[in-house]
Amino acid sequence: MKCLECGYEKEIDQNAILCPKCGGLMEILVEPPKDFSFDSLKGRGVWRYQRMIAGEYKKIVSINEGGTPLIRSCNINKNMYMKYEGVNPTGSFKDRGMTVAVSSAVSNNYKTVIAASTGNTAAAAAAYASRAGIKSFIVLPKGKVALGKLAQSILYGTTIMEVEGSFDVAMGAVMKLYKDLKVVYPLNSFNPWRLEGQKTIAFEITEEIGVPDAVIVPVGNAGNIYAIWKGFTELVKAGVTEKIPRMIGVQAEGASPIAKAFIEGSQSPLFTDNPETVATAIRIGKPVNWRKAMKAVRESRGTMLVVSDNEILKAQRDLARKEGVGAEPASSASLAGYYKALDRKIVYPDEKVVLILTGHSLKDPESMGKAETKRILINPSFIEKIILEEVNENDGS
Ligand SMILES: *Cc1c(COP(=O)(O)O)cnc(C)c1O
Ligand SMILES: [Zn+2]
Repeated sequence: MKCLECGYEKEIDQNAILCPKCGGLMEILVEPPKDFSFDSLKGRGVWRYQRMIAGEYKKIVSINEGGTPLIRSCNINKNMYMKYEGVNPTGSFKDRGMTVAVSSAVSNNYKTVIAASTGNTAAAAAAYASRAGIKSFIVLPKGKVALGKLAQSILYGTTIMEVEGSFDVAMGAVMKLYKDLKVVYPLNSFNPWRLEGQKTIAFEITEEIGVPDAVIVPVGNAGNIYAIWKGFTELVKAGVTEKIPRMIGVQAEGASPIAKAFIEGSQSPLFTDNPETVATAIRIGKPVNWRKAMKAVRESRGTMLVVSDNEILKAQRDLARKEGVGAEPASSASLAGYYKALDRKIVYPDEKVVLILTGHSLKDPESMGKAETKRILINPSFIEKIILEEVNENDGS
């Protein structure tokens, strides 16, 4: 393990979350097995790739996460693929990280876990803690969590603590608590063990279609884009593949500290105190993993893009209405970013591009309900008339 801030190196240690010297973020440097090949693997989902996942696990806490469908586009562009993370057990990619982080926690005898969250981490943390039979606490920005995610946390059973302010306030509280009180295991993405699970997204894509030209990822706290990049680089190290895709990160206009830094050529992110966007999962003003994300984007020769809320909501409807795929607003930022990247010739229509659809549309019923559609209060005897009118209208054009 190596600290990204001060360069301090230590042996692999699942108790090590932040740098013991400076409190900075740690990277887990994996030396992949030299004889690794996909052919020898058994099972499906995250633990199929256990040989590539660092750490030792006395106990594995799993709800059969991962193994999600990679759906080829029919109507947007046939070279576009959607990695549908919404079908994970709690409806987002967070489950991939949570199975590894909670397994690390119980394998090291922790009895209590905590996470700050915009919603999806909370739902996943609560579910995996329940599965493990340990206690969980979650810290949420009050009034800023999509209904489906809040309801999940209630159902899975956890202690919900709501703070005034944004996610960043909740995150700050959890980081401070972890530094002061080492007996509680943190499940946020500054915990590098979570990213070990999330990197399996890269393995699944490669196993199914080879290495794509580009991967487009919505960026909030910025752990996932790094995790996926890490997965692709480790396949190269293992001798399984020869290249990595360009990593393209997408942020929402009102919460784009990393993307704005890229656009302005700044080496450090332009943090904001009041992030705002309909895409609540990426409504983050001070992403803790910014250094990791910038490394992934730079080293893969990718880029960062900014999209507006209107572009996000249009993309959400396009996914649903052109492809039949339901994604929450943050996830739809991937498609909004794809459109923009095509427009600016950052990617070309004949390139193989994978969009990471991070969470399910059911997470955020309010955003789905805002899409305009025909909805008529009707006397049943008029139904036939309406249908015939619409069918004839379409035939005539
Ligand atoms: C957590 C989350 C993201 C952002 O991932 P980061 O690793 O924080 O950048 C994006 N979309 C959804 C649906 C999420 O739950
Ligand atoms: Zn350090």
